[in-house]
Amino acid sequence: MSDEQHQNLAIIGHVDHGKSTLVGRLLYETGSVPEHVIEQHKEEAEEKGKGGFEFAYVMDNLAEERERGVTIDIAHQEFSTDAYDFTIVDCPGHRDFVKNMITGASQADNAVLVVAADDGVQPQTQEHVFLARTLGIGELIVAVNKMDLVDYSESDYKQTVEEVKDLLNQVRFDTENASFIPISAFEGDNIAEESDNTGWYDGDILLTALNNLPAPEPPTDAPLRLPIQDVYTISGIGTVPVGRVETGILNTGDNVSFQPSDVAGEVKTVEMHHEEVPKAEPGDNVGFNVRGVGKDDIRRGDVCGPAEDPPSVAETFQAQIVVMQHPSVITEGYTPVFHAHTAQVACTVESIDKKIDPSSGEVAEENPDFIQNGDAAVVTVRPQKPLSIEPSSEIPELGSFAIRDMGQTIAAGKVLSVNE
Ligand code: GDP
Repeated sequence: MSDEQHQNLAIIGHVDHGKSTLVGRLLYETGSVPEHVIEQHKEEAEEKGKGGFEFAYVMDNLAEERERGVTIDIAHQEFSTDAYDFTIVDCPGHRDFVKNMITGASQADNAVLVVAADDGVQPQTQEHVFLARTLGIGELIVAVNKMDLVDYSESDYKQTVEEVKDLLNQVRFDTENASFIPISAFEGDNIAEESDNTGWYDGDILLTALNNLPAPEPPTDAPLRLPIQDVYTISGIGTVPVGRVETGILNTGDNVSFQPSDVAGEVKTVEMHHEEVPKAEPGDNVGFNVRGVGKDDIRRGDVCGPAEDPPSVAETFQAQIVVMQHPSVITEGYTPVFHAHTAQVACTVESIDKKIDPSSGEVAEENPDFIQNGDAAVVTVRPQKPLSIEPSSEIPELGSFAIRDMGQTIAAGKVLSVNE
C-alpha cells in the first residue's frame, strides 16, 4: 500500500450484475492481486506448461473466497489508485449482503453501483441505492456493466442511465453527486483504459472517476466505540473479543466497558493481523483481551467503549425511518428485528409520532395510524432486550440501523435520540 489517503468503497448492485467481476478487474488492473493468488497461479501454470497471468485466476480466487462465506468481510480487498488507497467494504457475494451492507455501509465513504446494461434496474438495485442514501453514502459512481452483451450500444446505455436517474430521483439522491460510465468488467472496457468499443462516450474511465472521488470526512473526535463481532477463547491468551473500531482509539492499558453486558476491565493486549499493537484506530479490525472479562460475560452485539464514557443502552429511542419494502402497513406495536452495528434485537414500534413529506422534509401528519412503503416517519422504539445504540448526530457510525422482517429489509433509519 502507498501513503495515499484512505477511502472505504462499497460495491453495490443487483445479484449477477457483475460486482465480484468488477472487484476482480479492479484488483487486477491496479496490480493488487494478492501474492498467494499469483503464487498459486504460477504453480498451476507450470503444471500445465502454460505461462502468463490471466484475469480468470483472479475470478477463480474470488469465487473461492466467496464460498468461504463470512471470512470475506474481515479479509478486506484493497487496491490503490494515484489518489487513494481503497478498501472494498461490503464485499459482494456475502451470504447476507444487505445485512453486511447495513453494518458496514455507514462506514463506506463512497460507492460504485453496478447495473448490467442487459438487465437494467432490478429489485436489489433499488434496495441498495435506498440503503446507500439512507445510511449516508457520499458519491455514487454508476458503472453500467456488461456493455459487451449489448454490442456497446449507446442507446442501451442511455436507457439504463435514465432508469438509474429515475431511481436516484425517487430516493432524492442528488444526481449531481453521481457519475455514469459504460463498462465491461469482464472485457475490461473503460476500467483502466479508454475503450475503442464505446467511441460515442467521452467521459471518465472508472479509475479516473475513482481518483476524482471527494476525500473522506476527517475522523471525528468521538469516544471509542467498538461493536463486538465475535468472542473467542484463545489458549495462552484467554477471552478475545473481535470487532472493528468504529470511532475513537483503543489503547492497551485503557479501562473499557462492554454494554449492554455491563462489564469492565483493563485492556491487556490488542492484536491486528496476528501482531500485537499498542493501539487501534477507526477502521482497524482487532482482537483484544481484557483483564477479568470472560467468554460468558460478553457477546456479539455488545459495544466496547471507555469505562468513563460508556456506550449508551437504550430503554427507548426515537428514530427517523423510511419504509422500503413492507407487504402491508406498519402500525403501533409492530415488533420486527432491528439490525444495528453487530446487534440484532427485536424492537417494538411503540408510537408513530409523525409522518414526514419526503420531498420537503416537513411534517406531513402528526400521529398517523399507519405508515407504508415510501413513507418517512419519526417513530419511538422500545428494544425487547437491552440494546446499545447512539444518536446519529453524535456518533453516526453507531446511529443507523435496518429493520428486517420476513427475510428482507423492510425499512432503514437513523437514531435521533436515546432515552437511557
Ligand atoms: P455479482 O453477483 O454482482 O457479484 O456478479 P458476478 O461478478 O458474479 O457476475 C455474474 C455473471 O456475469 C458471471 O458469470 C460473470 O462472468 C458475468 N459478468 C460480469 N461482468 C460481465 C461483463 O462485463 N460482461 C459479460 N459478458 N459478463 C459479465
